[in-house]
Amino acid sequence: MSTRRVLAMQEVGKRTPVEFSHNNQQVSKYYGANVFGLDAMREFLSEEAFNSIQNSMNKATIVERKMADQVASCMKAWAQSKGVTHFTHWFQPLSGATAEKHDGFFEPIEGGRAIERFSGNALVQQEPDASSFPNGGIRNTFEARGYTAWDPTSPAFIWGETLCIPTIFISYTGESLDFKTPLLKSLHAIDKAATDVCQYFDKNVTKVIATLGWEQEYFLVDSALYNIRFDLQQTGRTLFGHAPAKGQQLEDHYWGSIPERVAAYMRDFEYESHLLGIPVRTRHNEVAPAQFECAPVFEETNLAVDHNLLLMDVMEKVAIRHNFRVLMHEKPYAGVNGSGKHNNWSLATNTGKNLLSPGKTPKTNLQFLTFFVNTVKAVYEHADLLRASIASANNDHRLGANEAPPAIMSVFLGEQLSKVLDELEKAIHSGKMSPEEKTALKMNIGRIPDILLDNTDRNRTSPFAFTGNKFEFRAVGSSANCGGPMTVLNAIMAEQLVSFKKDVDALMSKKVEKDEAIFQVLKKYIIESKRIRFEGNGYGDAWKAEAKKRGLSNIPTTPGALEAMITKKSLAMFESQGILNHREQEARYEISLETYTKKIQIESRIIADMVDNQIIPSALTYQKVLIDNVTGLKNIFSTTDFKKVSDTQIALIREISDRVAIIKKAADDMTEERRKANNLDSSKKQAHAYCEKVKPFFETIRYNVDKLENIVDDATWPLPKYREMLYLR
Ligand code: ADP
Ligand code: MG
Repeated sequence: MSTRRVLAMQEVGKRTPVEFSHNNQQVSKYYGANVFGLDAMREFLSEEAFNSIQNSMNKATIVERKMADQVASCMKAWAQSKGVTHFTHWFQPLSGATAEKHDGFFEPIEGGRAIERFSGNALVQQEPDASSFPNGGIRNTFEARGYTAWDPTSPAFIWGETLCIPTIFISYTGESLDFKTPLLKSLHAIDKAATDVCQYFDKNVTKVIATLGWEQEYFLVDSALYNIRFDLQQTGRTLFGHAPAKGQQLEDHYWGSIPERVAAYMRDFEYESHLLGIPVRTRHNEVAPAQFECAPVFEETNLAVDHNLLLMDVMEKVAIRHNFRVLMHEKPYAGVNGSGKHNNWSLATNTGKNLLSPGKTPKTNLQFLTFFVNTVKAVYEHADLLRASIASANNDHRLGANEAPPAIMSVFLGEQLSKVLDELEKAIHSGKMSPEEKTALKMNIGRIPDILLDNTDRNRTSPFAFTGNKFEFRAVGSSANCGGPMTVLNAIMAEQLVSFKKDVDALMSKKVEKDEAIFQVLKKYIIESKRIRFEGNGYGDAWKAEAKKRGLSNIPTTPGALEAMITKKSLAMFESQGILNHREQEARYEISLETYTKKIQIESRIIADMVDNQIIPSALTYQKVLIDNVTGLKNIFSTTDFKKVSDTQIALIREISDRVAIIKKAADDMTEERRKANNLDSSKKQAHAYCEKVKPFFETIRYNVDKLENIVDDATWPLPKYREMLYLR
């Protein structure tokens, strides 16, 4: 009898919503109170320091050292006014989570006393003992130093009792070891490339920023149940578990009313987020039971990424107060929808224009078309790299599983815009446009705004869809740092815009008029990138066949997908845009492989442990009950009657023995494959071995364990069941 499970269920039965008090204040009263933002800066900084830091935020210039001293001491004063005692450099190592090392402000001085101090040096740079963060071979242990350096474009904030300073993380030799450094470089590259292209249309554009609005999906589970599922604790997902009789078939959870306990949790974490200046605004149930989503108003990408990471942390900490655990894993439950993090992406100018929003006049429409077509072309050129940017052991469970976008990259434009591109493609027959053609074209693109208004068909099955005034990259995993895919998207778009400008300038230097040159180049791109456009059902098998015919790749698993990171084409693209050099990108590739291997390795170990320590013992316990029953029956029934009354039990006894034998053998064989994989001499070989040799055992084992769950006495079964975990009150 599993007392642990019984006790946990009793605990769950007693839960009530955990209310907290923020006095029902309006959000605007406390929004950003824990951020060293404009208001705090104005209040605490001298005018000179304020201007200097503003300058560095807007123009990414370096803050002078003497200013840094001032800023640091003001930050400290501000933080202390809010009871803060510690500070940390907050960074995003390639391990995925955010990292922090807290230091106290106080410094001992002579006479056994102490003062509070925070110097410019401590603000600007730190040297964390970082030798155990993944570095893909960049940092040998003898030069194990890594530096964190202040990113003034993302404001410092207070979380708990700590002042957190967003920083980049680089090696002693200057290579980036984090997600943020290349993201910042990609934002710089796209700013430059897009601003140059904007000059064709509007001389007032001097800056272009990439915007990101993410949508975060997650599951909640009661912490009492979580605490006795070792698989959830250690791997973030359930490695066993039979699908419940009532799953999501009825689709009654989606946008249904939010359970009280959950609503209380949401209010609480939203409150904490608003204090931190994270503009979360939307909340609703998701498709699966116990699955939810939250989304903020979009922001500049660097800030949006920081805010997403911070929010994930806030959500986890606040969940514990509400006796929940939040599951960010892409696929916590088999047979139930997984979680993604849609990345809504666009480009905005300093003149307040969204470059992917069609304007009201043909001129602005041409600008829209330029950025629109170039995005399609960029995705076409680097589809495999984009696929690699979202590859992970977790996301493999989700992609192509008839619930999330397939592993095939394609772009959805919607019927109306597809038509516009088709017309544009046909319109220009030869090198030169006739005056009629020009007028016709301008008319066509002049119609775009009206057309788009009723362009409501949203294709949920596309990994990369245009949704009215932005592109939505839907294949990103829920636990991912969206800085990774956003770096790739910005980088490929920057490269694309640079080529576009070159192509247009070349025509203009041959005396082709500007608009016509732009049309001609766009037409060429439309034709070249046509194969990546797909408007149909991305979940269907027909698309797989069609994609194959079109020569688009369909790489279902991570080790294969990662290869695109280090092709000549990808390396050249990153290098040409000044975002990552060969060494850095190759290191990232190594780390991605290693991370993959480690994840599967951990899962495999946990499976073996749970099989040996929990599943088999409880199956045998129940089998013993059956055996006792049969022995008892034998004593009281005649031989002929005995057969009749014991047939079912004996079949069950046999089934348990059979399944236990299969499970045990598979677990032992799996352990052997793991041993072999560990002895391979490259991370690539190891990742493939884990994917192709170790992982297949998971399914055999799980299938048989789940069958056992169905026949073993419910009271004996040691693990909380799906039906218990998925239904929240
Ligand atoms: P949905 O896709 O769920 O129908 P919306 O289209 O309203 O919802 O927006 C979804 C997300 O897109 C939101 O997080 C929003 O902030 C973001 N978004 C809207 N406009 C932009 C933009 N120009 N750039 C980046 N993200 C945007
Ligand atoms: Mg959306």
